[in-house]
Amino acid sequence: MKKRVFVVLFMLGLCYLLIKIEPVLKDNVKIQSLRQTYNSNSSPRLVSQTTSKMQVERSQIYQGNLLLVNRQFAVRQESVRTDIVNLFDYPNLMEGYGVYDRNIRLSEEVAQRFMDMVAAASKDGVNHFLISSGYRDFEQQDVLYEEMGSEYALPAGNSEHNLGLSLDVGSTKSKMSEAPEGRWIEKNAWKYGFILRYPKDKIDITGIAYEPWHIRYVGLPHSAVMHEKNFVLEEYISFLQEEGRISAEVAGKKYTVTYYPKSHNKTVELPGSKEYELSGDNEGGLIMTVQE
Ligand SMILES: [Zn+2]
Repeated sequence: MKKRVFVVLFMLGLCYLLIKIEPVLKDNVKIQSLRQTYNSNSSPRLVSQTTSKMQVERSQIYQGNLLLVNRQFAVRQESVRTDIVNLFDYPNLMEGYGVYDRNIRLSEEVAQRFMDMVAAASKDGVNHFLISSGYRDFEQQDVLYEEMGSEYALPAGNSEHNLGLSLDVGSTKSKMSEAPEGRWIEKNAWKYGFILRYPKDKIDITGIAYEPWHIRYVGLPHSAVMHEKNFVLEEYISFLQEEGRISAEVAGKKYTVTYYPKSHNKTVELPGSKEYELSGDNEGGLIMTVQE
């Protein structure tokens, strides 16, 4: 009898240990590497209309939500979002937050996502958001660079604000580094496709001082993977370049992310009727995201 009790206790202990060492999944994000390599010497194939393959246009390689823009990689003219709107002309895009002045412009899609995010924050009792800057054309960026200096601003053409995917968010209560709005964004923005682009612990990689107000839209599942792995965009793009293909599960939705390197012929496999999104990385590579 004693032996049986011992075995039961041993099994219980084992179960407990297994549960303990199972990695804790933060807010239900699972990431898996699906390593694959491409034959970079393969010649471009002719693609028939009837196959599920598509030859990507040259201009598409420099468009999308995952373009890396920094001192090294500049914004090309074709990379600027084509859906830039002046928020003040679109009251239906301005619910739940304020704007600093009447001239704030942003990608319409990003404004919609931002609105979804502030609606969620409001449910947590955090509702004093203010957009102080959105899309800037090259001229505006030039003026700002002169005023702010290189620690906080980037020269025209090297700022994400020139894409239309980034915005500076403040709080009408206090400084973003102290305000509940800043803390909420730091903790939750990734769930809505946004990233804090210049975190405190990545200054050596981004080359930009900590900016608790600057957020960038990259979309899901990318923001979730970056949050889970504590990557800034520079690190995430390198990660995709190394892995080739990953799968990610975020809040029950499954995604496959495939990286096509610069040398690849850019004939991509279309996922049938599934939703997909293409984006360049601004280095000549292409990233396809499929929702499974
Ligand atoms: Zn900014």
